[in-house]
Amino acid sequence: MNAPPKPLLILDVDETLLFAAETPLERASDFGLGPFYVYLRPHLDSFWKTCAESFTLAVWSSSGSDYLEGILSRIVPDDICLAFTWSRERCVRRYDAERQEYYFVKDLKKVKRLGYDLDQVLIADDTPQKVGRNYGNAVYVRPFLGEPADEELIHLGRYLTSLSGCSNFRKVEKRGWRNHV
Ligand SMILES: [Mg+2]
Repeated sequence: MNAPPKPLLILDVDETLLFAAETPLERASDFGLGPFYVYLRPHLDSFWKTCAESFTLAVWSSSGSDYLEGILSRIVPDDICLAFTWSRERCVRRYDAERQEYYFVKDLKKVKRLGYDLDQVLIADDTPQKVGRNYGNAVYVRPFLGEPADEELIHLGRYLTSLSGCSNFRKVEKRGWRNHV
């Protein structure tokens, strides 16, 4: 008998899994990529492993594809296989009239078109605006700006694991998730 398919977990990159800046912080970066000093969020390696036990993993970033490929080649463990790696090209560009600036939206309709049942899809992102069309699938993460004592990924990994057996993620209130770990 085949094991049931794992639910899909889509991860944001910047400020969720790492912090990249053109100006270095006061501590040494984990690596450099082009003009960027890259600081990995603490516990990232164990977070990949924890999540891969319960989920099929994918990455969706609103950054450019060259940057994303460069980053992923450095941060994804060899034994982790990603279902897809999407960059800005897959986002929808929207204009915020109040702030007079463009922003990017990750619309899970595109994931549904691949055949995924959205009841079994979660997306973790530090920017609610980017997943506003699918808030029922979203788990909001505190933005990571390089703090060396950050523990968000430990808590997030535990929480996501606790959700993984749920038949419909969209029916679960996830906004106060830190109170459940
Ligand atoms: Mg982000």
